[in-house]
Amino acid sequence: MNLIHESFQRLFPGRQFAYETEMEYNRRLGDFNANIHLHHNKITLHLNLQWKDIDDEIKIGLVQHLLLKIFKARAKTQNIQLYTNFIKNIPILTPKTKSDPALAEAFLRVNQQFFSNQMEIPNLAWGQDSSRKLACYNFHNDTITVSTLFRDSSPHILDYLMYHEMLHKHFQFNHTGSRHSYHSTEFREAERKYPHFETIDKEISKIIHRKGATKRRTPSFWKNIIKI
Ligand SMILES: [Zn+2]
Repeated sequence: MNLIHESFQRLFPGRQFAYETEMEYNRRLGDFNANIHLHHNKITLHLNLQWKDIDDEIKIGLVQHLLLKIFKARAKTQNIQLYTNFIKNIPILTPKTKSDPALAEAFLRVNQQFFSNQMEIPNLAWGQDSSRKLACYNFHNDTITVSTLFRDSSPHILDYLMYHEMLHKHFQFNHTGSRHSYHSTEFREAERKYPHFETIDKEISKIIHRKGATKRRTPSFWKNIIKI
């Protein structure tokens, strides 16, 4: 079965499939990542090797999800539903292998204060000494990563960064249509519930300016720079 062809046909019944296809599994992509390109008449699909043994019906959902992006279309299919359910379970199924005492403490404080201790602890890791990517949440491996710029920052700074990323974990699957909106209005509203967030924002900017002074670009507003 040509996965791309099959996914297309089920997604756009009756529409002619006039494309060349190429599909490759590799280890270069991040956990459970995949991407698709349309160039002239050729559709190229790259998938992380982890996808190889996953059920075809789920993979068809993934490919359809990607096809909707390149054809700028919207649709709901059973396969996309299967794929979405599968993705939702990745954080739960992901083994928790990474942690760090300071990050774990921040997580536990924020979980208690804002999430009624209801959030499952994800993998927690220090990232790179980056002033461009301060922190991120990757739901493909259920990992919150914080830039080492903040390694010696006070707990209230870590808590705030952690809160932002935990909101991503919390909101990850709230999306409209096929487009994920990472910083939705709902997200921003929740973010502003954090006490004294403006003051902490400024403190974070100062840390970036101080520590990131030698970097190529120093962001003035960390919120625009922070990656999901
Ligand atoms: Zn974010």
